[in-house]
Amino acid sequence: MERSQLSATVDFEKPGKQHGHIRVPYSYDLGGWANLLLPVTVLGNGKGRTALVMAGNHGDEYPGQVAILRLMRELQPEQVHGRVILIPALNVPASRAGTRPSPLDGKNLNRCFPGKADGTPTEMVAHYLTTVLFPQADIVIDIHTGGRSLDFYPCATMHLVPPGEQRRQMLEGTLAWGSDFAFMYTDIAGTGLLPVEAERQGKIVITTEMGGGEPVSAGVHRLTQGGLRNVLVHFGILAGEKRTRRGAPTRWVQALSGDDYRFAPESGIWEAMVDLGAEVAAGQTVGQIHFLERPDREPAAVQAASAGLFLASRGPSRVVQGDCVACIAHDVDPAVLV
Ligand SMILES: [Zn+2]
Repeated sequence: MERSQLSATVDFEKPGKQHGHIRVPYSYDLGGWANLLLPVTVLGNGKGRTALVMAGNHGDEYPGQVAILRLMRELQPEQVHGRVILIPALNVPASRAGTRPSPLDGKNLNRCFPGKADGTPTEMVAHYLTTVLFPQADIVIDIHTGGRSLDFYPCATMHLVPPGEQRRQMLEGTLAWGSDFAFMYTDIAGTGLLPVEAERQGKIVITTEMGGGEPVSAGVHRLTQGGLRNVLVHFGILAGEKRTRRGAPTRWVQALSGDDYRFAPESGIWEAMVDLGAEVAAGQTVGQIHFLERPDREPAAVQAASAGLFLASRGPSRVVQGDCVACIAHDVDPAVLV
């Protein structure tokens, strides 16, 4: 691929701790030679594996941005074995605006991979990750939430990659997050995702859906920060004792069928009728849509296509026809998957 136009003010090979930026050249009316500055911190200490830890792929997803900002300040090189590269906001304009795509070019970074060397700012960031940062990494962590559109039961997530060492290490790393559920998902909305490109390069990829929406509870922050640290300890990159879950082991669930994702049949006001994390029966109404202009009408019911677990619900109560309003996941034993 063509050479990236982005440059970093840190030296990724240098030991110790460096704060700096990744510079993304762009032009606007009052800044012909402007650069977007993506904060980056590198901690290197001896030979070992490299973890690339990222958040703010979508700007309206906050727990990962906070967890990485804390690590950037708190982590010291002597606590690291190998290298950690921390990027709290991959899509800085989206993080500033609290939006999913970048307000600069309208692009959703998580649909831009492998990226373009001479593309829009968001496409150039994807290309830099593909050609410069992923090749340096062994473990790639991308922390998401459902953003403003979906409220997830907070969980670590992964794609089912082909059987082998990569899958084995991804399963173990996902469990190390210590969430109640570990979610195996499929891409229901397009291609060009960050994890897909990192997986194609053979990396161990760990992702999350740490809740969703604007309010973030202290519990979700704790799970995000504690889970991230534990994953880094699990892979031997961070010093410390690996924590094991208290209580029931993490439950693996998956939603690989299009029917597991339910969409609003009409526009109106969404009423969730099941708690996140609860069991639902096949055909059970999980929520309904009310019509302010037609109080005489029965609400439109949305049912689970099959029995499972109510893992995610629509975030904003106002829904437009075609919005995803529910995700139903099913128990799965990763040991029997081929
Ligand atoms: Zn996201």
